[in-house]
Amino acid sequence: MEVAAVRTHRHAAPLLRPFVTAARRTEAVEYLAIEVELRAGVIGQGTAADTKPVTGEDLASITAAVTGPITAALTGARGTIAELSALLARSVDGASSARAAVDVALHDAWGKAAGRPLVELLGGAVHTRIESDMTVSLEEPDVMAQHAREAAAEGYRVLKIKLGRDVDEDRRRLDAVLDAVPGARLRLDANQGWSVQQAIEIIGAFEADGLPVDLVEQPVAAADLEGMAQVRRAVSTPIMADESVWTAADARRIAELGAADMLNIKLAKTGGIPEAMAIADVARDAGLTCMVGAMMEPSITIAGAAHVALAHPAITMVDLDSPDWLTTRHPSGGYKVQEGWLALTGGPGLGMELLRPDQDPPR
Ligand SMILES: [Mg+2]
Repeated sequence: MEVAAVRTHRHAAPLLRPFVTAARRTEAVEYLAIEVELRAGVIGQGTAADTKPVTGEDLASITAAVTGPITAALTGARGTIAELSALLARSVDGASSARAAVDVALHDAWGKAAGRPLVELLGGAVHTRIESDMTVSLEEPDVMAQHAREAAAEGYRVLKIKLGRDVDEDRRRLDAVLDAVPGARLRLDANQGWSVQQAIEIIGAFEADGLPVDLVEQPVAAADLEGMAQVRRAVSTPIMADESVWTAADARRIAELGAADMLNIKLAKTGGIPEAMAIADVARDAGLTCMVGAMMEPSITIAGAAHVALAHPAITMVDLDSPDWLTTRHPSGGYKVQEGWLALTGGPGLGMELLRPDQDPPR
C-alpha cells in the first residue's frame, strides 16, 4: 500500500435526544471525516468525534493532529497495513481518537484494495452476529423509564444504564427502568462515579434484591485498579473495566491484579485496530471477555468497531448504539442492527458508501 493523500472534512449530526452521563451532556455529534487515498486510487474512510471527557480531545485538537503530524507522516508512505498502522501510531503523542479515525480509514482502504471485507482480513468472522444494547442516559427516573420502553419496543433486550452521578438517586432510576421494562437485562455503567465502599454496598444491594444486572462497568476511578479488584472480590456481579483500559499493557495489568472480569475496548482509546485486537488477545489468554464499545461516535467508526468485534473470539458483547442516537445515518452500508443484534452487511473494507462532504453538513 502507498498513501497518496489524506483529506478531511467536517460534519455535524444532531442527536434525537440529549446524551447524558455522569461526565457530560451532548446535543449533537460534531465529527471529522478522514479520507485516506491510496496511490491505486482506492479511498478508505474513518471518523473522529469529540471525546474530550475521556481522551481529552476535541474537534480542534483532532483536526490539528490529523492535518499536521499524521498527514505529514503518512503522505507518500509505503508499506504493509501493519507497517502503515505502526507508522501512524508513532506519528503523534496521545491523540488516540485522531489516530483511531485514520487507522480505520487505512484498514478500510486495505480491505477495498484487497476486495475483501475487513473482518476477513482480521482473521475471519468468528461470530455472524453479536448482541448490542441500547444506552439509557442519566436523566430523571421517569424520563429513563420512557427511554427504556422505547428501546424495548425497538427489540433491544439489553439496556445499558448510566449511573454514578448522585448515588442516592441511582437505585430510584434503576427501579423506574425495571418497572417500565421488567424483562430487560441490565449493563450498568457508573463511569468512575462510586467510591470502593459505595460500589460494594450498591452492587451488593442489587444482588440481594436479585436485579437482572449482567455487569457493572467502571465502578471506581480509572487509576484505582487495586480498589476495583477489591470491589470485584466483594461482589459476584462481573466487573468491567472501561476508563482503566486503553492498551494491551493496561489489560495485562488488570488481569494480573484481578481487577476486572471484562474489558470494554474502544477504538478511540486504543488509537486503532491493532491495539484493540491486542487487548482482546490478552483477554483471551487471561480468561477475560470483552465488549467493543464506542463514544458518541458516527457510523463509520461504529462499522470499524463492528468488524473488530466479529473477528475475535474473546469479544462477546458490543455496545455500539451511538448511530441510533443520530437524526441521520450517513453513509449507508457497513452493518445493521435488528432486534438488538448487530451484523455486518458485507462488501470490501468496511462495506460502506463514501461519505459525501454535503452529508451531515457542519453547523
Ligand atoms: Mg463506559
